Amino acid sequence: MQDIQIAYHNVKSRIEEACSRVNRNPRDVSIIAVTKYVSMETTQAALNQGISHIGESRVQDAVPKWELLGEQATWHFIGHLQTNKVKDVVGRFSYIHSLDRLSLAEEIEKRSRQKGLVTNCLVQVNISGEETKFGLKPNQVLEFVKETSKMKYINLCGLMTMAPYELVPEQTRSVFRQLRELRTELNGLQLPRVQLEHLSMGMSNDFEVAIEEGATFIRLGSVLVGNEKN
Ligand SMILES: *Cc1c(COP(=O)(O)O)cnc(C)c1O
Repeated sequence: MQDIQIAYHNVKSRIEEACSRVNRNPRDVSIIAVTKYVSMETTQAALNQGISHIGESRVQDAVPKWELLGEQATWHFIGHLQTNKVKDVVGRFSYIHSLDRLSLAEEIEKRSRQKGLVTNCLVQVNISGEETKFGLKPNQVLEFVKETSKMKYINLCGLMTMAPYELVPEQTRSVFRQLRELRTELNGLQLPRVQLEHLSMGMSNDFEVAIEEGATFIRLGSVLVGNEKN
């Protein structure tokens, strides 16, 4: 098991440095510990360090963890979400970062209404255009936001993207910047019920660049809790 205390300490100081370079308050950057590659025990160890946001990307792996540890954290669903799994996600996860199609939004809306709750959703955008990545194309986002903002049991609260893996993290900057500019553009339109607060961007390899470009949620797996499955 990775020493999470040390890793968490190091990550926090790197976040502070990145924030100070661009005059941001570190409190405006929330760390989501991505526990998809680690055990229940390691997830508990992360919670014991005071980490309060947990990210999972596969429903089958996430549900048992949630059953045992659910109340100790805010849960974020960050992976591709199949429509038939929505019923297991709504009510457990406070945030879904991977909203990328209307049929998925309709199912989240339906299940949230049935449970009498509102699900926070971020629209996943494929800024880089890589075919292997999910997400809407940037030019599809406005139409999609207009449609989904009519849904009463969905709170659209931000945008999410994944940058390509780059050996030189600086090369991800334009991806993060474009997501930020898209948020500015959408918020500027003042559509009813559309105030996109969050930018979910930055992973182990590139989180400092993402913070410099405005990330409010960074999703950290290997650098923080390690990777026990590879
Ligand atoms: C796995 C994953 C992460 C974390 O990856 P690391 O590189 O280990 O930090 C972040 N976001 C998403 C969507 C993921 O699937």
